[in-house]
Amino acid sequence: MPSDDYFHEGELVSVLTTEPLDRRLDYKAPEGGVHLGAYVQVPLGPRQVVGVVWGRGRGGFDLKKARGVHRVLDVAPMRAEMRSFLEKCAGYTLTPLSQMLRLATRAPGLANPPSMQKVYRRGSKEPERMTDARRRVLQVFDDYGGLAFTQRELADHAGVTPSVIKGMVKLGAVFEEDTPRDLPFPALQPDYGRKELTEAQEAASAELCERVRAEVYSSTLLWGVTGSGKTEVYLEAIAETLRKGRQALVLLPEIALSAEFMNRVEARFGARAAEWHSGVTMTERRRTWKMVGEGAAQLVIGARSALFLPFRDLGLVVVDEEHDNSYKQEDGVLYNARDMSVLRASLCSAQVVLASATPSLESWTNAQSGKYDLVELGARYGEAVLPELRAIDMRQVTLPSNRWISPVLETAVKTRMARGEQSLLFLNRRGYAPVTLCRKCGEQIGCDHCDARMVEHRFQKRLMCHQCGESKPIPEVCPSCDAEDSLAVVGPGVERLAEEAAERFEGARIAVLSSDLFGSARALKQQITDIAEGSADIIIGTQLVAKGHNFPLLTLVGVIDADLGLQGSDMRAAERSFQQMRQVSGRAGRAEKRGVAMLQTYQPEHPVLRAIMSGEERQFWRAEADERRLSGMPPFGRLAGIIISAPEAQDAYELGEHLARNAQALEAVGAQVFGPAPAPIARVRGRHRVRLLVKASKDTPLQAALGQWTKGLKLPNQLRLSIDIDPQNFF
Ligand code: ADP
Ligand code: ZN
Repeated sequence: MPSDDYFHEGELVSVLTTEPLDRRLDYKAPEGGVHLGAYVQVPLGPRQVVGVVWGRGRGGFDLKKARGVHRVLDVAPMRAEMRSFLEKCAGYTLTPLSQMLRLATRAPGLANPPSMQKVYRRGSKEPERMTDARRRVLQVFDDYGGLAFTQRELADHAGVTPSVIKGMVKLGAVFEEDTPRDLPFPALQPDYGRKELTEAQEAASAELCERVRAEVYSSTLLWGVTGSGKTEVYLEAIAETLRKGRQALVLLPEIALSAEFMNRVEARFGARAAEWHSGVTMTERRRTWKMVGEGAAQLVIGARSALFLPFRDLGLVVVDEEHDNSYKQEDGVLYNARDMSVLRASLCSAQVVLASATPSLESWTNAQSGKYDLVELGARYGEAVLPELRAIDMRQVTLPSNRWISPVLETAVKTRMARGEQSLLFLNRRGYAPVTLCRKCGEQIGCDHCDARMVEHRFQKRLMCHQCGESKPIPEVCPSCDAEDSLAVVGPGVERLAEEAAERFEGARIAVLSSDLFGSARALKQQITDIAEGSADIIIGTQLVAKGHNFPLLTLVGVIDADLGLQGSDMRAAERSFQQMRQVSGRAGRAEKRGVAMLQTYQPEHPVLRAIMSGEERQFWRAEADERRLSGMPPFGRLAGIIISAPEAQDAYELGEHLARNAQALEAVGAQVFGPAPAPIARVRGRHRVRLLVKASKDTPLQAALGQWTKGLKLPNQLRLSIDIDPQNFF
């Protein structure tokens, strides 16, 4: 009797691989048979590739020619719910299913047989003779704390050959041991470090816990000012999930958040949770991936791609700082982890908690319309009160050239220093200066490959392109007119601001927090911990500091340029600026001391700044929502971006125009097509980019129409087309 979820030896099964083929392939089930959803290794041409048994084979060809499944991998088969999630996600984002599968199998060595393996730890002895290579090996151990590595990982991280490691083992400087490949995670105890909640927190927690117990899908917006205890509250929802024997996932926007956060979770549940982000070693990634599938990891703290882990029984997804931009993946599969969390949860009867002090307009609207539940936390916890907000009108201030700190802000910082408190100077610009200009010919040094100016990074002594990462030494003469000593920098970046601060605040200990200044995530985490413990008087930071870190001694936030986010024509500019200013102001005064936030601005009457100053949040959201509703923009209408790129601009435009002229499939559903026009970043890595914009009303079956529109399109060589549903950075 053929069954639909188990295939006997020799039966044809249909296998989805991660290879960029547009179809699945048939193979014969191996000896012992194979389950639906099993991860398998199959031959493809001369290679062996990983795939998943997706259904019964379709046949229709000479069976004698069918090849067999090479091996069934020793990992939990993919569950029906996960297959359905990947299919729906592929359909929503118009991504080939093979690419979705690649996202869901990003754990190296999945195909390795389960067995013991040799791992390497730091030994007890120092090598008698220290070489550069040996020093690098020891440095890797220092950078990653007490972790063990496979030989390959250690060699790769340190940039040495395996023989260097073997040599160090002989010397006792590196210790070799056998361990099982992947160990389960220690059990978490839901009642371990439970805190006494305030009345408001208790009420919020009770609501979330009730939904956890119901074991049906729901989405909740958890809205409360920074410091009101949102984290405490959702930790209780996690505890309830653990009690139910289900798994929980917390998504965080920045890996930098997790050092402090992991400790907090450990203090609450008595053991460490699993981590999933780019700073995690290969071995740990594979372990997490496998254990999640076996139910032997109860809680994962991760970046957006953790949503594609093969959870056995996912009961709760928390999306912390849900408004954050970084939930949208901007290359490869263009998905928004916040929205896909909702999809995933709906398929596995889980609850989604979206936590934020400044929700996205999308989530705010969903909460208003009743699509999401709203749970509000009013006040800050304990003594902590919201910072006092002050605008500094920069039109009234005359500063010497190349100075950005106003006298009022300067005095405020000095007062903090005298009291032993910390100040944060916020400027969302990495590097030393955003523009390098020739005073003779006016040339602004740009990237050779992109439509972007090169930013001077003085610490690295280089000019860098923030678009493609290209860098070059700071030139001595103007690259355009060859004039000597003619290059001048214009405007501040955090490095330059740090220079000004060092001159103005004598003897101050200054820490610059900018993502490019740290060699590893671990070094950054360390710096953040040190600052929290008081190692700096003045913190100078980019948006990295606007998020979730707890600096108890911090009582002053100075926003150097509150107007920065208001420029540009992005429909989300106001929303983003509002969120960022609120977030960064919220850094001040988290403990018992009341904080002050000072916003330097040239446009104090701007509606966004007025809304920030007055604290009238609801009014701001309402006004924003009205504006978007009137113009039919998301979340009241739908948008899709189509980016076409090519080495020659002409080719990209021609294809764009061809598509715009032949848009009957879109017109049939009432959608409008705009463009082609240069994309916001018109050139990246030497490729010219052109964009079309498709706008439709909310109930339009947009994906189907887009699929119809681009179906059968033969892309000429070198041309690429990508479709971005719900684009975040488009205008
Ligand atoms: P949010 O996530 O809203 O920013 P947190 O949950 O991080 O707020 O709480 C802010 C600070 O107050 C944290 O240091 C937290 O430990 C503390 N805190 C909040 N609620 C409580 C509570 N009920 N008992 C003890 N400490 C609390
Ligand atoms: Zn570039």
